[in-house]
Order: sequence, then structure tokens, then C-alpha cells
Amino acid sequence: MTIVGLDDTDSREHGMCTTYAAAQVAKQLRREAGAAVARTLLVRLNPAVEYKTRGNAALAIHTDCDPARAFEISQGVLESLAETRDERTNPGLVVADVDPDAGEDAIPASLARFSTRAIRDHLSRAAAETLITDHDYQSWHAGNGRGRIGALAAIGAWRALSDWTYEQISYREPERWGTPREVDHNSVFAAAAAGYPDVWDTVDRGENEPVCVPHTPGPILHGIRGDYPEAVHRVAEQIDSEPVYSSHLFVTNQGTDVHLRDVTVTVGADSGSGITEADTGAATTTTLQDGRAYRLDARVVAEPETRRGGHVFVDVEPKGVAVDDADSTASSPSTLSCAAFEPTKRFRDHVRALRPGDRLTVCGELAGGTLKLEKVAIRDLDTTDLVTPVCPDCERTMESAGRDQGYRCRDCGTDAPGKERTEIERGLELGWYEVPPCARRHIAKPLVRGGFDGPVHPER
Ligand code: ATP
Repeated sequence: MTIVGLDDTDSREHGMCTTYAAAQVAKQLRREAGAAVARTLLVRLNPAVEYKTRGNAALAIHTDCDPARAFEISQGVLESLAETRDERTNPGLVVADVDPDAGEDAIPASLARFSTRAIRDHLSRAAAETLITDHDYQSWHAGNGRGRIGALAAIGAWRALSDWTYEQISYREPERWGTPREVDHNSVFAAAAAGYPDVWDTVDRGENEPVCVPHTPGPILHGIRGDYPEAVHRVAEQIDSEPVYSSHLFVTNQGTDVHLRDVTVTVGADSGSGITEADTGAATTTTLQDGRAYRLDARVVAEPETRRGGHVFVDVEPKGVAVDDADSTASSPSTLSCAAFEPTKRFRDHVRALRPGDRLTVCGELAGGTLKLEKVAIRDLDTTDLVTPVCPDCERTMESAGRDQGYRCRDCGTDAPGKERTEIERGLELGWYEVPPCARRHIAKPLVRGGFDGPVHPER
């Protein structure tokens, strides 16, 4: 058995898409070598990587083709399809002589670790080259060869990950690439409603947007995502559109939240307070770093603020966590600034409704010292407020009796020592809130998929 990993074939200006290249490789493996293709993986890597064209996707094809033949065929496809006119396109191909289905240890552990790091961290080309040499894999690249990082990560993913979803991608006739897409709006919404909740992120009902249809010049007509192969296939079939040139099913880590690093506070460790990245196993104390995504518990410490452009910011205090960025916009070193940017639309209303004292779990990527919120769990709401006391006799609001002298009612002569706590109505419920489908990152897990530790308020 053989795994073919490939990455970095497309260009923002010229189009193309590595999923299409992978579908073509699968087709040629069947056609030219008579090989069987067991599955094609679409693996989303760290969404914060600066070199990405769009969604930081890498692809792996699991086939029974002889490795040398698979290499030859794949190289031919990449050479003809990769958009190397764009100097930022650096295609990479790696072919591993391993059987992905031969049990837990078939794929080397070092490769699985590389995949996890490619999803949650930043890797060097040298690290990829070392692994390729160590394992004697065949590889090819153009440009600076950066694509081999993603290609290798896609190969290791089958061992590294356990939560898999599906995407049925339908492609356009090549002569239509770059022209407006003809997809019947109503049929997309009807198919999305019929497929929900097994099929998700097909449309955004709040924005009236068919999010499964891209706006980019590339070959994709629509991509239908969900939990089961039959379900995504059925929804794709129900959409009325221009002719579908070809269609391919991908097994993917989309919608899984596997990019998030769990962070828990450790107080009183040897080096003082710090954070532990629970998923790494070892209790290492570290600081939050830009370009990585986190899930952490925090307390709101300031009123949310809507800034120019409609972006909503809220400062939280994740106890013991340091933020490794001098540009941090937070009001003090122990606070973390969280943002719900304008494109997250109605999600901002929930963030705006937060108040100091609320306890949360926040998820998102740290960029420029600010956590870009993807989802938030409200764990506890502060339901009390301090108000000026009311006179028990005349029921009018008392007035200040002077600095530190409490309040009094001039007419009735009653007084009170200070402000009083009163219960208030909150327009929020406990549980998980998420950005709407139109703002969802490929890798972020929609609440409708379940498995969250609290009530959920899914967006659709
Ligand atoms: P495409 O459809 O071409 O795959 P994309 O949005 O997925 O578009 P790429 O063009 O693949 O982005 O660019 C991402 C580049 O960054 C690739 O060369 C990939 O190997 C590399 N890369 C991916 N993840 C990491 C990482 N964690 N650290 C360093 N480099 C990475």
C-alpha cells in the first residue's frame, strides 16, 4: 500500500486548488495503473500559517498502487496542474510505502507527531526534509519545496487524528473556471435543510448565503460537508446547477476543532503560576503565542467595547496565562483581549452582552496578542448589579450623602450605607455560542456536531 501526500499547488490569482489536483491523481492512479484508491484525505493544517493561499489544506491519497508508479503518476499530474506561475506556489509531493490500514503502527509515530504539529504549530522545511530522508520516502518539489511540509503532514494524519468528517466536492467544467457560477439558490437551501444536522455549514440562513459555493476563481462548484459519506453525497445530488464536471468524496478533519490547544492553569508549580498544555502530555509551563489556537477558561474583566468597523472586543483574565506579544491590546499584562470581528456577524451580539464577572471558556487563534474568537462557552453569568438605593418611604432614588458617606433621601430623612446589590435579567443563556457558518473556519467544529461539555446554541 502507498500513501501519496501533496500540497501547495494553487494560487490566489490564477485559481487551481489542491483538492482538484488530488482528485486528478486518484483518477490517474485508477486509469493508468489500474489501482484502487481507498480514500482521499483533505487535511486542514494550522490556519494561522502565513504562507497559506486560503484554507491551508493538504491532501493524501491511500492507494494499492506500487509506490514508484504512484510517484511517477502524481508528479506528472502536479507538473501539469500546479500554478507555478505564482512564485508563492511551492508544490510538494511525498510518497510513502506504508499501509494506512495495517494497524496502529503502520504509519511511523514521528510522522503522526509531525502532523499534529503542522495543525497546531509552525514547522520548518528542514524538519520535513529530515523526516523524508530518515524514512526513505520519495519526494518531488518545485519552487522552495515548502509544499513538502503539508504533503508529509497529510501522510501522518491518518494515525494522528481520530475524528473524521466528509466533504463531497463537485467541480466545474474547466472552460467555466473563472466565470460566475450557476447554482440555484433555492435548491441549495432546500438540500441544506433536508440534510441537516448530519450535513452542516452548507448555507448561512441568517445571512441568506450559500456558503458551500466558493467565490474564488478555482475549479470548485460546491463542497458539501457533514458527518456521513451518504449524507453529503445526497445533498450534493439535490443541488440544481450548471453541469458538474466531476465529483470527489474527501475524508477530512474539517469541523473537528483539532487545531485548538487545551490550556489549563497550574498554580504553584516550580516556576510559579503558568499554563499546561494538556494535550502535550508533559506539564510544561508556557506562554500563549501568536499563530496558535487555544481553548482556555477565563473571566470577563471589562465591559465589551464595539470599535470602528463593528469589531467587538472584550478583555478577559485567564488566570496565570501570559501573552507573548508586545502589541497586545489588552488593558493589563494579565488580561487577554478577545475579539469578535465584524465578519462574525450575529455572534458579536452574544459577546457584546457579556459583563465583568462572567466566567467563560474562549476558543480562537492568537494574532497580534488578540484572541480571535471562534466559539465561547458561557459557564457562569453575573446576575447582580450595584444600584443606588431607593427610599423605602417615598420609593424615589436616594442621593449621595457625600464622599464615603452613603446615600440618603432628603425628603424623608432615610439613609443607606452604600449601593445595593440587585438581581438583573441577562439576555444570555449558559452554554456554547459559535460564529455563524459564513464565518466558520474549515477546521472549527460546528456545535451541531455535539460532544460539547454544556448546552449548545448552534448557528445555521
Ligand atoms: P492549496 O489549495 O494550494 O493547498 P492552501 O490555502 O492550502 O492552498 P498552500 O498553498 O498549501 O495553502 O500553502 C500552505 C503552505 O504552508 C504549504 O507549502 C504547506 O506545506 C505549508 N505549511 C502548512 N502548514 C504548515 C505549518 N504548520 N508550518 C509551516 N508550514 C506549513
